[in-house]
Amino acid sequence: MKVLAFRCFLLLALAVANVPALASDFSQHLEQLNDLRLKDRNQFQGNVRQLYENTDKTTLSNTELGHLLLLTAWDHVLTGDFERALNQLEQVDTNISPELELKVSSLKTNIYVLSYRYSDAFLQAEQVLVSLPTIREPSLYTQVAGPLILLYNNVERFELVNQLIDQGLRITSDNALRCRLIAPKLQGAYKTKNFQQYSLDFDSTHSLCELANEVIFSLLIIRNHMFYLLEQQQAAAALAFYQQYYSQVEQINYPILTAGFNAAAAEALLQQGELAAANELAQRAEQSLPGDRNDPAVLSTYRVLTLLAQAERNFDNLLRYSEKRRDTELAIAREKASQQLAYQLASGEARLKEQRIQLLDKDNELLTLERNLYQQQAENRYLMLLLIGSLSLILGLLTYRGLTRSKRYRKMAEFDQLTGISNRYHFTEQAKQEITHCIRAQRPVALILFDLDHFKQINDRFGHAAGDWTLQQVVLSCRNFIRHSDIFGRIGGEEFVILLTDCTAEQAVMLADICRTALADIDTSGYQQQFKVTASFGVADSNQAGYDLSALLAAADAAMYQAKQQGRNQVYCPATADGAV
Ligand code: GH3
Ligand code: MG
Ligand code: MG
Repeated sequence: MKVLAFRCFLLLALAVANVPALASDFSQHLEQLNDLRLKDRNQFQGNVRQLYENTDKTTLSNTELGHLLLLTAWDHVLTGDFERALNQLEQVDTNISPELELKVSSLKTNIYVLSYRYSDAFLQAEQVLVSLPTIREPSLYTQVAGPLILLYNNVERFELVNQLIDQGLRITSDNALRCRLIAPKLQGAYKTKNFQQYSLDFDSTHSLCELANEVIFSLLIIRNHMFYLLEQQQAAAALAFYQQYYSQVEQINYPILTAGFNAAAAEALLQQGELAAANELAQRAEQSLPGDRNDPAVLSTYRVLTLLAQAERNFDNLLRYSEKRRDTELAIAREKASQQLAYQLASGEARLKEQRIQLLDKDNELLTLERNLYQQQAENRYLMLLLIGSLSLILGLLTYRGLTRSKRYRKMAEFDQLTGISNRYHFTEQAKQEITHCIRAQRPVALILFDLDHFKQINDRFGHAAGDWTLQQVVLSCRNFIRHSDIFGRIGGEEFVILLTDCTAEQAVMLADICRTALADIDTSGYQQQFKVTASFGVADSNQAGYDLSALLAAADAAMYQAKQQGRNQVYCPATADGAV
């Protein structure tokens, strides 16, 4: 439930952005269309298409044409056709006015986020950031800053987010605009678990949005608040909100709201032990699931359906929904990691920019491929389940148990029990296979090897359990930044390796440094004691050590040893210009 309504807010930011007043009748018509967007999406889309087809573009001024193209791009975004929206934006002559240029850049940022192209999104956002302080017109500011606020909120750059919000609040007293600006701030407080701030801000933010009649924003705030209440075990309070607001939700008929409200209420009823009523609402939630499965409404729906199947001992449903729930969680985690890596890379040194983009695009390609594969697998598994279901229940159960057991045994042999990543044997197997692919494709390979610094002291001072906990945190921290195609293994007690395919030494050094910083940032106060976790990193690549895994490991080990010699908590790579980072 920690995941935020990022994407739905983003679509909203698109939906509520205003086209400022233009002179002609045609421009007024464009403005009316724009208003329609919030009230009736289908009608908006129909009208935009009609207008676009029936207008002789040669009679329009450049500014009018630009705004018409922007509206049609919005139409494509709402349909989910991002490529077409981008094509449309390419046709806008951005030299006409800085304002139009800003609007195009801001819509592009949105589209990149919605289509998971985070590196492009951050690069675009950085450009927009530079022009923001020059904007004096409040609605233009909100339109342009809105997507950036959401984007940076998501990678937890709260300082920047607050600056952007305050800058906007300074130039507007319009309640609707103020609501759109501060709604993400509430999410930020929730996301960082700053619950004191969250409960303080909830009332004022919600009242402001209600006062401004920003219905969708205020309902989204309520939806998320219900999730918050459930996390605090306050089922009755969550249900009270449901009863108060559900009729409004029904009127708006927006999937992220309908599914979200129903899933939250179902979960509340489940917490109160009312299975039948919970079931009914959960079914309702499933029927109105939004297309974007990263939305919290989707996760919540599958969560409650899994819990219900568990309570009802319906094993078919249990398997089916746990799988969907896991896929959703995975998609959300991957998306978060991609965004964080994209942000780190986009905000880093300029000389590596090009290579980083390639690295990320490759990753996102894989992400898309993997998503498709997951979908297919889920469908196949469901078909198989139907077949099993037609046999007797006992046979079904036995098969299920057998399957999970053999999976479990395989998992035990391949994965390290403490941290869940590949053990030395499995790492070696996988790495060899990947290296063979890279040799065939003539792509470079890099290897990062790292060893925790003075780990023995952690064991000695705080106990073995603290050491184990540290090892788990190390893996969790690095995992955020590792691509799906990379292989992460624990090859010794406190020694880890990451094999990076299609990656040069420079890129690997950069990733190693990101991991190094992440380890140094591990907050151990959540455990019992405060102590520092650092590691020394060695990097080798195929240009320097060739494609033999043992040679790569030996080179990375030697580099790691050098990093230890030089004082620990650092990355060393003989192949990069200056060696140490
Ligand atoms: P250096 O900076 O030189 O690497 O110092 P170090 O203390 O990290 O290195 P050393 O090799 O002396 O100590 C590693 C320690 O890691 C010793 C061992 O008890 C501990 N260790 C190995 N595996 C595990 C494990 O699974 N859990 C815990 N808690 N400790 C482990
Ligand atoms: Mg060691
Ligand atoms: Mg060590």
